[in-house]
Amino acid sequence: MGKIFRQTVFLFLIAIFLVTGISFAQAPIKGKVVGIADGDTITVLQNNKQYIIRLYGIDTPEKGQDFGTKAKNFTSNLVFKREVKVIQKDVDRYGRIVGIVYVGEICINQEIIKAGLAWVYRQYCKDGFCRDWINLETHARKNQIGLWSHPDPVPPWEYRRGGKASFKTDNKTLKIVANVYHGNRRSNVFHQASCKDFNCKNCTVIFHSREEAIKAGYRPCGRCKP
Ligand SMILES: [Zn+2]
Repeated sequence: MGKIFRQTVFLFLIAIFLVTGISFAQAPIKGKVVGIADGDTITVLQNNKQYIIRLYGIDTPEKGQDFGTKAKNFTSNLVFKREVKVIQKDVDRYGRIVGIVYVGEICINQEIIKAGLAWVYRQYCKDGFCRDWINLETHARKNQIGLWSHPDPVPPWEYRRGGKASFKTDNKTLKIVANVYHGNRRSNVFHQASCKDFNCKNCTVIFHSREEAIKAGYRPCGRCKP
């Protein structure tokens, strides 16, 4: 009786392990990089499907910030039109996959930090290796590499907070969400994050302000009125 009980417990534990293991292990996305929105956001094409990937654990300067363009170009030089593997870590509130991106053995997230073009996004980087990433950031900072050549660079999350939508002081989430819009590349309509069409099939163009979207020839959605 005792033996059977032990065996049952053992099998039960194995079953739990398998079930949870399967649900945690997302298959990596493998495909070609077909778009670079900015230093930490890329588009990967796998089996004719586009995935917007937000690089896990880092935050690069926004377009309007110093080194925003440099960060974008750096990422582009590393991955654009190349085959990458994306280890999925999370899905963010915009429906983007948050992941670690590899070209061969090279970890792109890490390369961007080394080049002094990103902050380690401490709020979201919670793995053991984030410690190493912070060390790389500190090294870049000490050697005044990239954006660390500035005496007092503004972290992108602070920059976003002080952006055009900062009147929405009652809700932190709204403030951040208000700074991202998705454009539908077919219809040239853009949506805000609260819209049900925000993550539509062709809504793969990212804008960080209304002005940017309008300048690019997009018009506001009639439903969500961004
Ligand atoms: Zn909309």
